[in-house]
Amino acid sequence: MTTPVLTRTRAELAAQLTRLDGSTALVMTMGALHDGHLQLVRQAKTLADHVVVSIFVNPTQFAPGEDFDAYPRTLDADMEALTRVGADLVWAPQPAEVYPSGTRVTIDPGPVAHILEGVTRPTHFAGVALVVSKVINLVRPTVALFGQKDAQQLAVIRTVVEDLDVPVRIVGVPIVRDEDGVALSSRNTYLSAEERVRARALSRGLAAAVRAADGAAGSRDVLGAARQVLLDEGGVDIDYVALVSEADFTEILVATGNAPALEDALVETPKDPAPPADGAARILVAARVGTTRLIDNAELTLRATEGVL
Ligand code: AMP
Repeated sequence: MTTPVLTRTRAELAAQLTRLDGSTALVMTMGALHDGHLQLVRQAKTLADHVVVSIFVNPTQFAPGEDFDAYPRTLDADMEALTRVGADLVWAPQPAEVYPSGTRVTIDPGPVAHILEGVTRPTHFAGVALVVSKVINLVRPTVALFGQKDAQQLAVIRTVVEDLDVPVRIVGVPIVRDEDGVALSSRNTYLSAEERVRARALSRGLAAAVRAADGAAGSRDVLGAARQVLLDEGGVDIDYVALVSEADFTEILVATGNAPALEDALVETPKDPAPPADGAARILVAARVGTTRLIDNAELTLRATEGVL
């Protein structure tokens, strides 16, 4: 096992990149690495000759009052983990290295950035789009991998890459979960033991929605099944439960808040709830457990005919 080369500056990164022959895969992270991140690296190794990992807590994707300062920073442990999975090169820059001229250009990724997460975090995806564009331009990988855990982020990145003709292939990697079903996240370390138990309701709710969809339930019942698990758990403060089309990440049905009746929680969406023809959809949850905001999602197929929606 060889420790990946650790670079901090742009110049060091550029110098090390010239030493790599062949194709390069990029995995972008904010560090505090867990097996979800490592799965991206493992898959990256199957797609390119070399794997470059960035570790950067990107200030432009955090709003004032969010957890930028508190976000865990564990570079030594991250380097050990990346040694075990065989990453070749790590770039762990300071903010001034990434933004030497401050932030002049902004990227608005369009409608996909303004729904769901974009409502609660209105500046978040512009920051993601900016840092992803910059790091892809600096590393020039043939492929870049992102987790489906952040499904809307993946949709935003696909949109930016497509519309700006960025010459890279984007690959989405399935969610890695703990044994209790909770999606791995660096933010899980914020949860107390008791909150961690409550956090399981997110994945249980998603599983209930998938079962409902498999039983050909309509979209309201599918969404309602997930919501009910969260409501029954108690102490889970729902931001939204949403069904989106897998093809283009447009909203099919969205409910916000903890109102007991689904009707009182449904939000007007631009279109009538009409599932896409192929029925491929994704159910997404964002909720606060204690002070920690968690997100999770699952793929499902809507099978109900339009009449029973
Ligand atoms: P982050 O460090 O949270 O910015 O995540 C870096 C990358 O790892 C993103 O593409 C995430 O979607 C991905 N990721 C984080 N958690 C998971 C997980 N549990 N399963 C799969 N991918 C993940």
